[in-house]
Amino acid sequence: MKFGTKVIHAGQQADPATGAIMTPIYQTSTYIQKSPGDHKGYEYSRTGNPTRSSLEKNLSSLENGKYGLAFGSGLAAIDSIIKLLSPGDEVISTNDLYGGSYRLFTKIFENYGIKFHFLGMDNLQKIEDCINKKTKMLWAETPTNPMLNIIDVAALSSISKKHNLIFVVDNTFATPYLQRPLDLGADIVMHSLTKYMAGHSDVVMGAVVCKNDSLAERLYFIQNSCGAVPGPMDSFLALRGIKTLHLRMKRHCENGKVIAHFLKNHPKVGDVYWPGFESHPNHEVAKKQMDDFGGMVSFNINGNKLSDAVAVVSGMHYFTLAESLGGVESLCGHPASMTHAAIPKEEREKTGVVDSLIRLSVGVEDATDLLDDLTQALKKI
Ligand code: PLP
Repeated sequence: MKFGTKVIHAGQQADPATGAIMTPIYQTSTYIQKSPGDHKGYEYSRTGNPTRSSLEKNLSSLENGKYGLAFGSGLAAIDSIIKLLSPGDEVISTNDLYGGSYRLFTKIFENYGIKFHFLGMDNLQKIEDCINKKTKMLWAETPTNPMLNIIDVAALSSISKKHNLIFVVDNTFATPYLQRPLDLGADIVMHSLTKYMAGHSDVVMGAVVCKNDSLAERLYFIQNSCGAVPGPMDSFLALRGIKTLHLRMKRHCENGKVIAHFLKNHPKVGDVYWPGFESHPNHEVAKKQMDDFGGMVSFNINGNKLSDAVAVVSGMHYFTLAESLGGVESLCGHPASMTHAAIPKEEREKTGVVDSLIRLSVGVEDATDLLDDLTQALKKI
């Protein structure tokens, strides 16, 4: 099955009871048993629910995995993955990552004795040098949030295999439409389904996909034991959103390209971060592992004044100022005060998250309206 068919059909079939074409919302917490243990495959909805199962099968198919698990949020998915580790274990993570992942790692899991090292992942030797007997996991987000660096998944996978680590890729920004990390050697792929996957800014959900039987067994155990599962209604909405993932992503990429080039030529704009530029430091890696460059574009303003960034993000109409990304509507954000406020200023500035940085999630509207919006907002400074 090709990608555009999988999004619509994988894990889904007409309801055998009624013929309903859409997967029903099985809004039930429990299931009848004729006698103890004699049931139709479902016992309790934390452990399994048919609407969620359809979504989990669909996700696994899109990522070319074997097992899919859905969670109540992207962070719940990350939380469950880190619970594969034990006190004393160490993780090497990219230093340019979603602020909430950084907060979970440093403010929650460090209290439980897990140590995190944050590194730029361009320099493979630095990663090798950081690995010791306690290192158990490599964590990469690519493209990174918000600087849109690209990490070479195949190269990291070789390091991970050499040292017997669990290699996790947060595929939220790219989605399996643009890149499939399991095919490139990652052990686990995770998503904030809240973003491009569900795609309509109407659910908060997460996912984990893997191929390895024993990892999957441990993850299912954690999912059921800790219980951070999504409800059937949200599972249905995510499934419905995914049906148009390929169409939406194509348009996000087209619009992202138009906006990135416009910003690059604007006299008030400083650096523009978008992996499709030949001048992007990781452009060659992006071309190798991604099928297109996505709809996320970040830029800073000449002079790096916080007040200029605030004026631009507050002055846009179609680019709504809001947390999150990946919905059909365009959003803008100010990472230093919003998504990445949890990262200390000195740390975030090292990676480029300066006061005037603006992150755009370019939606699927008409590109000319988006260009007009940016033009008028940049006139305000
Ligand atoms: N990973 C990335 C790259 C994100 O951008 C986010 C949220 O913005 C998350 C994980 C966390 O996902 P959620 O907000 O669904 O918990």
